[in-house]
Amino acid sequence: MKSAAFLGLADALERVRGTASKKEKVAVIAAYLQGLGPEDATVAARVASGRTSERGSRDEAQVGYATLLEVLREVTGATEDGVSRSYLKHGDLGEVAEELLAHKKEQPLFAAELSLRDLEEGFARLRSAKGHGSGSAKRRIVKSLLLAATPLEGKYLVKALTGEMRTGLVTGLLEEAIAAAYGLTKGEAARAHMVLGDIGAFAGEAASGTATSVRIRPFRPVNFMLAEPFATAREIAEHFLGTAYAEYKYDGVRAQVHRSGGEVRVYSRRLEDVTASFPEIVASFRGPGAGFIIDGEAVPFAGGRPLPFQLLQRRLRRMEDLEEAVKKAPVTYFAFDILFRGGEETVDLPLSERRRLLREVVAGTSARLAETTDVSGEEGVQGAFRRSRDLGYEGLVVKDPESPYAMGKRGSGWAKLKEELDTLDVVVVAAEYGHGKRAGVISDYTFAVRDGGGLKTVGKAYSGLTDMEIDEMTERLKAITVKDHGYWRQVRPEIVVEVAFDSVQRSDRHDSGFALRFPRIKRIRADKGVADIDDIWKVERIFSGQKLKVEEA
Ligand code: AMP
Repeated sequence: MKSAAFLGLADALERVRGTASKKEKVAVIAAYLQGLGPEDATVAARVASGRTSERGSRDEAQVGYATLLEVLREVTGATEDGVSRSYLKHGDLGEVAEELLAHKKEQPLFAAELSLRDLEEGFARLRSAKGHGSGSAKRRIVKSLLLAATPLEGKYLVKALTGEMRTGLVTGLLEEAIAAAYGLTKGEAARAHMVLGDIGAFAGEAASGTATSVRIRPFRPVNFMLAEPFATAREIAEHFLGTAYAEYKYDGVRAQVHRSGGEVRVYSRRLEDVTASFPEIVASFRGPGAGFIIDGEAVPFAGGRPLPFQLLQRRLRRMEDLEEAVKKAPVTYFAFDILFRGGEETVDLPLSERRRLLREVVAGTSARLAETTDVSGEEGVQGAFRRSRDLGYEGLVVKDPESPYAMGKRGSGWAKLKEELDTLDVVVVAAEYGHGKRAGVISDYTFAVRDGGGLKTVGKAYSGLTDMEIDEMTERLKAITVKDHGYWRQVRPEIVVEVAFDSVQRSDRHDSGFALRFPRIKRIRADKGVADIDDIWKVERIFSGQKLKVEEA
């Protein structure tokens, strides 16, 4: 089957971007997808969602700003100054590409139309460019794609390569469009998408007419169930009414462990394959026996107690030798749920049943079953919370024994309770050199939350990181600088940090209209990406919550 032209997709995405109506965005994409076969639908949906590889795949095709800027200059003859002027004007590298590509310096050897298959082949080559010499290989691949691209195609190619689509086509809408294009109900679409974990794979199955028969299976990571936040033990007691399970809130990294045919793989919350970072987990479960998929938390743990979460960070970012990391902060896997066992999905069984199956899977391994106690009433919940804090855990997760495993949802079956005032997950968008003891290192970070498709700044933090972490941040920030203004630099939004603060104020200093008071960085969230940061509504909610308290007092 002939592959469709990339231009059709670029055109559809441009129309999606041009309308504020969600209904229209869905209609445009649905109509576009209808004309595509499974292979093209896979690529189109993936690109529309800002991805260039399947979720859960070990290899990424994404390309850094520096490489893209360099290739754009080469292809169009633009100067460094011209590029940075264009960036300041648009604030979006895709739009920069569109503007610059209107004047190409070089023309492709053969002027041929780019198809979706060509695009996927380019991505595949980028994914496999690794190790020594991969930088120049990547530049060559991107160059050949950009040479063949029209300005509009270049725009969406660059957007896909940076993962910053800004079309307002959030995953929910894309899922709706795929359902509409291929005649699936909302429920069927949600289920197939959840199980496949990847929007492209879902579109491919939908286009083949096989979406309704998709099942969970090992080595296909599934979106995690999340807990709903609660402010007090009383609210939790009221939410669950009867007896519920209380578990420690382990402070580590969420991990899904899959086993089949003697092989074990580990997936992160973002559905990335992180097997290589967790040899202890692989060792715990390696061996014969029925296949399974379990959910739990990888926790640095020694002497019967959790160690500080920060100890895992360096390992995750591969900043130190793995052997060394394993010695310094050995990881224990605390399993709390099971999604699949011996050929059968278990997600729809009640939690009480799933716990029984999980106990069997964990028995005899060096992993542990998350401890569960039955609680009821405010005092029961409060008591369990205290014990958990005394033992050095972060808080409590309370679960309904009857609840199913709600894939990818902040389900009402799980409730979490943490002690301190809420924290916010934010992304660093600009950074400055420090003063005095911190001269020469980049130690002041301006950060933002999400607002619709964009980002809005809410504060600037100077404290909370160790000297070593600041050194690491300095290196990383230099590598993702978009524009260097001397003492400060604008950076590509990708470093996520969790900030604590005393309160939220109204302020014109930041473009969100709010400023966090006394913000401090609690930790660098290597496990989260810009898609996982908090939204402006949460800031607003905290702000109005405070007001209520002041008014009540
Ligand atoms: P937060 O990161 O504050 O949004 O809290 C939710 C996270 O707590 C989950 O995504 C898990 O990684 C983690 N967690 C720790 N212990 C548990 C547990 N016993 N059950 C469920 N989630 C847990």
